[in-house]
Order: sequence, then C-alpha cells, then structure tokens
Amino acid sequence: MPRIRVLPDALINRIAAGEVVERPASVVRELADNSLDAGASRVDVELAAGGRTLVRVSDDGCGMDDDDALLALERHATSKIGSVDDLAHLQTLGFRGEALPSIAAVSRFALLSAADPKQGGVRVSVEGGRVLTVEPAARPRGTTVEVRDLFFNTPARRKFLHAPETELKAAQEVLRGLALARPDVAFTLRHGGRTLLELVSAADASARFSDLLSKRGGAQVVRGEAAVGGVSVMVLLAAGSGSGRPSLLLLVNRRPVRDRLLVGAAMRALREGAATGGTRVAVMVEVAPEEVDVNVHPAKTEVRFARAGAVFSAVARAVGEALARSHGRVDVRRIEVGSEPGERVAEPARSPYRGGGLFPHPVYDGGGWPPAPPGAGSPPDLPAQARQTARSGARAGRPDTPFGRLLGQYRNSFLLLEDDVGLVIVDQHVAHERVLYDQIRHRLAGAAAPAQRLLDGVLVDLDPALVAALPRVEPLLHRVGLEAEAFGHDVVRVTAVPPELGADAVGGLLAELLERATALDGVPERIAETLEEELAASLSCRAAIKVNHALDPAAQRALLADLAATDDPYRCPHGRPIVLRLGQDEMERRLGRR
Ligand code: ADP
Ligand code: MG
Repeated sequence: MPRIRVLPDALINRIAAGEVVERPASVVRELADNSLDAGASRVDVELAAGGRTLVRVSDDGCGMDDDDALLALERHATSKIGSVDDLAHLQTLGFRGEALPSIAAVSRFALLSAADPKQGGVRVSVEGGRVLTVEPAARPRGTTVEVRDLFFNTPARRKFLHAPETELKAAQEVLRGLALARPDVAFTLRHGGRTLLELVSAADASARFSDLLSKRGGAQVVRGEAAVGGVSVMVLLAAGSGSGRPSLLLLVNRRPVRDRLLVGAAMRALREGAATGGTRVAVMVEVAPEEVDVNVHPAKTEVRFARAGAVFSAVARAVGEALARSHGRVDVRRIEVGSEPGERVAEPARSPYRGGGLFPHPVYDGGGWPPAPPGAGSPPDLPAQARQTARSGARAGRPDTPFGRLLGQYRNSFLLLEDDVGLVIVDQHVAHERVLYDQIRHRLAGAAAPAQRLLDGVLVDLDPALVAALPRVEPLLHRVGLEAEAFGHDVVRVTAVPPELGADAVGGLLAELLERATALDGVPERIAETLEEELAASLSCRAAIKVNHALDPAAQRALLADLAATDDPYRCPHGRPIVLRLGQDEMERRLGRR
C-alpha cells in the first residue's frame, strides 16, 4: 500500500462532508473497510454491549509502521487517493482519510499495528481525540483497532444509540454485507463470548450467501440475472417460510450500500412477484466506476447512479427472475412455446388481497373509449427464437393492438389475440390491475390526485388501534385522492375516494393499509415506501375490472394499449402472469400436423 499523505484542500472540498460515525455499526463498517483495503485475508470483529462499550477489529493486512500509524489519525490523511481523478476510479472502500480520526475523537481508542514484525509494532492510544501514548508493541503483521465507550464525551450523540440488541443487529448487517462482497476473506463476529458469525473463505458469492444463511436454517438459493444498458445485476434469493419483511443485502461494485433506489427496485419486484415472508435476497450490481458516484454520503451507504433508470429495471428484473425460479415457475416471457397450454390460466389466484366487491369500472365500461394513441408502446421484446413463423405457413393477420390482432373476448374474462408466434390470451382482470398499479404509482410519485367527494361520507368501523394509526397514513391517502378522518375512537369517516375505487370497497382497503402501517417498523421513509407499494397494489386489485365482465371491442383495445405501456405488461403487481401464449408450433404439434 502506498504511504499515507494528507490530502490537498482542493480535494478535501470535493469530499462529502458530514458525520462518519453514527453508531457502533458505522465504526464496524469503517474499520472492516480499512482491513479489506489493507489486503486482509481475515477480519475478526468483537463487540460488547452491541458495540456501545467495545468494538475491536483485527486483521492480517499490510499493517502500518510507526509513522503511518500516527499519520493515519490525522484528518484527511489517506494512502488511497491523491487526486480528484482518483475519486472517479476508486478501487478501495475508503478514500476520505476521515474514519480513524473521527472515531478516535469520540471514543477511548487504541491502534495496534505492525507492517514488518521484525521491526516491531506500535501501539497508539487516544482519548477523545488526544493522543495519550505511543509505545512499541509486538504483534504479527496486521492491525487491531479497539474502540471503547463510543460517544463517552458527546452525551447528546450517545443518547441516540439504541439498545445493545438493536445496535448489534445493525453491526451484524454491516458485516454480512462486507462478507458477501468479499467471499475470499474469512470473517468472524463475537459478542459477549458468543460467536455470531464464523465464515471461512468461500469460493464465490453464492457459496458465501449460503454460508450466511445456514445459521438460519439453510434454504435453497436461486439466482436471477439481468443486464440493462451497461448495468449488470446478479441476484441470489432464498425464499422465506415465515412472516416479516424480506431482508436485503445490496452491493454496488462490491461495496455494501443501503441505497433507496436499489431498495425500491428490489422491494417492488418482491411484492410484484408475491415473495413469501422472510425471503432473503442479495442484490449485486456491477457498473463502470465512472457511472456511479460513491462520494455522496458521509457514511458511504448511499450512491448515485448516472443511469438510475437502467439500474432500477435491471435490479427489478433480476429479482423478479430469481423469485419466479424460486416459485418453481418459469418467467411468463419464456413460456410462449413449449409450455403446457392452459397452465397459466388454470393457476389459482395467489393474490394475498381479499378482493373488493364487484363494481363496474367507469373507464372500461361501455364505448366512448378514446382510440389508442399512435405508437402506444409495444410489449417488451420476446426471445428471438419465438419470432418465427409456423411451419405450416399459416400467418397471423395484421396486428391492430400492441399484442397482435384482436380476435375477441372469451367468456367475458379473457381477451384472445393472434400474433406471429401463435394464440395470445390475456387475463383482463390482471391486465387492468397492472394498468391501474402503474397509474397509481405515478400518481403517488407526484401528479395531482383526482378525488370523488362523497356527499355524506362513508363510515367505516375499525379496531381502535387501527384508527389511532390513521395519521400515519393520511398523507399517503391524500396523494391517491382518499380522504378520511377519525370519527370517534373506532370509526373512520371517509369523505373522498379515488375515482377508481367504489365507496363500498374503501373499508377493506383502509383496514388493510392500517394493519400494515401498525405492523411495520423501521426507518420512517422505508415504511412510507412499503406502504406506497401496498396501497398501489391493494387499490389496483380492488379497482380492476373483474372476470365475467363484458367489454366491447373498443374497450378491449384500449385495455391492451394501456397494458403495453406499463412497466411490465406480463406480470401483475402480485406476480401473476397476465399473458399466455400458445405457440403455433405447439398447437401444430399437438394437433398432429408435425
Ligand atoms: P481512509 O480509509 O479513507 O483512507 P481512514 O481514516 O479510515 O481513511 O484510514 C486512514 C489511513 O490509515 C488509510 O488510508 C490507511 O493507509 C491506514 N489504515 C487504516 N486502517 C488500516 C488497517 N487496518 N491496515 C492498514 N492500514 C490502515
Ligand atoms: Mg477507511
């Protein structure tokens, strides 16, 4: 490793400023980052009281000589970058030269290091930022940093620390992320005499992910992969069997992050794919270093992508693919030829939502539908081999919808079409649900919410605990055009509803959302994100046209055009397939024509 230098001011000013150390987990993160940057092949972490009274990290990395050990404690002293240009091509986890001095300033701190054990090591002890002693000390090559009594001299910050179990969990999460990023490195985590993690060097990320799971009853790991515009994503997923939120480990170029965009994309794909509770997912994103800015957050947990859209869809697709595999289902996009006909259609509804009442839909009922806008989207690419004409030479008629030529409605429930691959069957309820889901998501993202005032209001009886949670979801409800107020301790009065939602369906929707709001805990903004998704899915399911509902051809075409314009025309928000295709090849084979 090159020598440590103090960075020039011009470069210091380019570095995201702010608190590096928020809690014991951030100390663990910074120290373990340093160990990995020092080329360690093992990192041992020991905590006491969740890290509040002790964090000790030892490694067998390159170590520091006496001079460097002292210099490392200066602000903005780093061996990792020297110029602004280096910032754009980081190979290391650290780069700011701030972690050690920031930690030493708010703890009783000791650094023990040896670069060349023959020359002996050094021990530096610091208290509240003041160097107390520098003395020779023996140790094999490597470094140990010991941090005691975090925030002992800043009571205001100490007050914000959580209970030891909570801090421990956070620290564990940090190590799990790093361990996934570096399967070649051995990691241990000990806490109060117990060994919580013991990871030997593993062959690859997939093996490491299994090792990380095994303590919690090893589950089968499936993979999903996607590449979109220079962004490639690999996902490892182990389906859960219990309840609770999915757990996510997110890496960007082998750097653990807790990025909103990635969390959003993964959570969305999980809910749309109807992930079971407690599903564990690792998302590994690779992008060119110049396409991602890791210098936007002082604790290095958030990043900024040059092409956020590509990242979002690559993550969502890879998670969706892994999930489909774990459900033992093939992605609907690949079933067009060679699958059992009727299989998708026969699949029972797996929606976790209790359906709302059957009510007419204002948009798709009756004629008067505006014609599809010119060039209104076309469905995403099908695999090339599907784009072949059948051997018999039978050709499809000219397409008049994005999915092919419309043949009509079957049993008032499915739309039938033909395209150059075969017969296409679209589930009208799920298709409409998908359309509404996207519209509601966009509405939640900002556009003004149309609302339908209810003259007398609708009274909904609810459990008092749910009524008490109303203020938490009120802003969210407003954004979809739903207005409700507490009316006594166990009644809510609804005064306006979104146009898609019938007044009779509002009670179920409210109860469901409030139940979720009271069950979730965690960072407020993540809760808001989850609730948004829940609300969109719940509302779209309730408001979508049902099966056994006649649609005239104009309404059928409009629905198909809208479906084609959604983010994923092949999958409903709960993961149900929307489109089934019976390939011409398959049809001819079954009819003995080939
Ligand atoms: P940064 O990691 O951003 O460079 P730090 O304050 O975390 O800043 O560390 C300062 C410097 O101290 C590093 O650049 C590195 O040279 C040295 N250092 C820190 N920890 C270790 C370690 N475990 N092994 C070897 N060198 C280390
Ligand atoms: Mg560092």
